[in-house]
Amino acid sequence: MKEISSSDFELEVLSQSACVVDFYSTECPPCEAVAPKFESLHNLYGEHVHFVKIFRQGNKELATKLGVSSSPTLLFYKNGVRVGDQLSGGVKKSDIIKNLDLLITPDEVVKIKSGMKPSNTSHDVVILGAGPAALAAGIYLAQAKTDTLIIDTALPGGQVSTTHQVSNYPGFEEPIQGYMLGHHMSEQAKKAGVKFKVAVDVSHVDLIKKEIVIDEFETIKAKTIIIATGASPRKLNIPGEKEFKGKGLSYCATCDAKYFQDKEVIVIGGGNSAVEESDFIARFASKITMVHQFDTLTANKEAQEKILNNPKVKVLFQHEPRAFAKEGDKMVVTIEDLLTHETKKIAADGVFIFVGMSPNLDIFKEDLQKDKWGYILTDEDMHTNIKGVFAIGDVISKKYRQITTAVADGTIASIVIAKELG
Ligand SMILES: Cc1cc2nc3c(=O)[nH]c(=O)nc-3n(C[C@H](O)[C@H](O)[C@H](O)COP(=O)(O)OP(=O)(O)OC[C@H]3O[C@@H](n4cnc5c(N)ncnc54)[C@H](O)[C@@H]3O)c2cc1C
Repeated sequence: MKEISSSDFELEVLSQSACVVDFYSTECPPCEAVAPKFESLHNLYGEHVHFVKIFRQGNKELATKLGVSSSPTLLFYKNGVRVGDQLSGGVKKSDIIKNLDLLITPDEVVKIKSGMKPSNTSHDVVILGAGPAALAAGIYLAQAKTDTLIIDTALPGGQVSTTHQVSNYPGFEEPIQGYMLGHHMSEQAKKAGVKFKVAVDVSHVDLIKKEIVIDEFETIKAKTIIIATGASPRKLNIPGEKEFKGKGLSYCATCDAKYFQDKEVIVIGGGNSAVEESDFIARFASKITMVHQFDTLTANKEAQEKILNNPKVKVLFQHEPRAFAKEGDKMVVTIEDLLTHETKKIAADGVFIFVGMSPNLDIFKEDLQKDKWGYILTDEDMHTNIKGVFAIGDVISKKYRQITTAVADGTIASIVIAKELG
């Protein structure tokens, strides 16, 4: 693998029959996550594809010219022409492979795939998920000299990374940006000795055998598994929701509010998340219409007062959305008045949905005991009904889902596990 600078770009990239370029930065956790994947794929594809790395900060002009605005970014070239996807952020190995395969012949793909050898490793504890619950557990376990691996399908931080500001996590006098809090937690876990495999595909989990397969070929065994896969925004499951996700319809204000500067937005929901996130969206949008099923907001009193006093915000109480559509550039929401059952259409530039969360448990096929809402039941030590399997954080059945309660669960599980493993 070659490290090049912009002056070598013509020779090392454009003149090659097949080439992949990794624009990386220093002090960049997603770049650290991609580096071992790039290295291992270089060993497999290196005979057919030229692998190069370019330091983005040192080659800014070239990066800007190529539309590279974040690190890492991977670009793929065939005979000097860009092909495939521009991959950035938490880049998955399977996505790199998909794009590398575009650069070579089908015969070469078959030859490489037949050379892919399954790998086997084992650890005392494997934690699925890298949100606050997992990171707290990892810190305690590593400090107790327990060999611990954290696996996440995304980058570390969990939901905290997509929260614009956190003002109620002790230890920070001023509100801290969510992604920075996640970053501090994961760096602390790394320093304590926790190993990470992030932005991977979790292909299969066997909770009974304690076996996890990631990226299809890597089998990881554990003495104990902790489920810390958290929760994801609940879907409304109404027409148009799937179709317009990411095309005018979003579940993440931190990610997308900035695209609505001086524009009009509809927010679905009226609980804590909906109200707090609307407050954030109001920094950008010129007008927010909240659609809420009840006759009062259900967020905490302070947040309610703030949002109701914001002149940009109007709340349509006792209404529910029934369908999403697009007319020209506008998102159109059909809403039903729950008192009169009349429907009408309202339009805006974008829609945000904040109607609660549901647990991320699709990967688990075993009979985990759950409550009626689908969250995992544990005892007070965080044991599940399956021997050697613990569950912590937002994925478990409990009354309050917060960062503090997630890290508390992680703390309890890790102390119990360290004692049980001896
Ligand atoms: C918009 C918003 C604002 C919030 N604001 C606050 C706040 O101000 N203060 C506060 O205390 N709390 C807040 N919360 C709640 C808080 O973020 C959560 O309670 C906390 O993040 C839960 O931590 P967790 O580790 O249990 O799960 P999560 O943070 O959900 O992390 C779970 C992780 O598991 C990973 N994962 C999912 N499936 C798999 C799989 N199959 N294999 C491997 N990994 C997987 C996910 O990628 C994720 O990284 C907020 C939540 C939201 C959505």
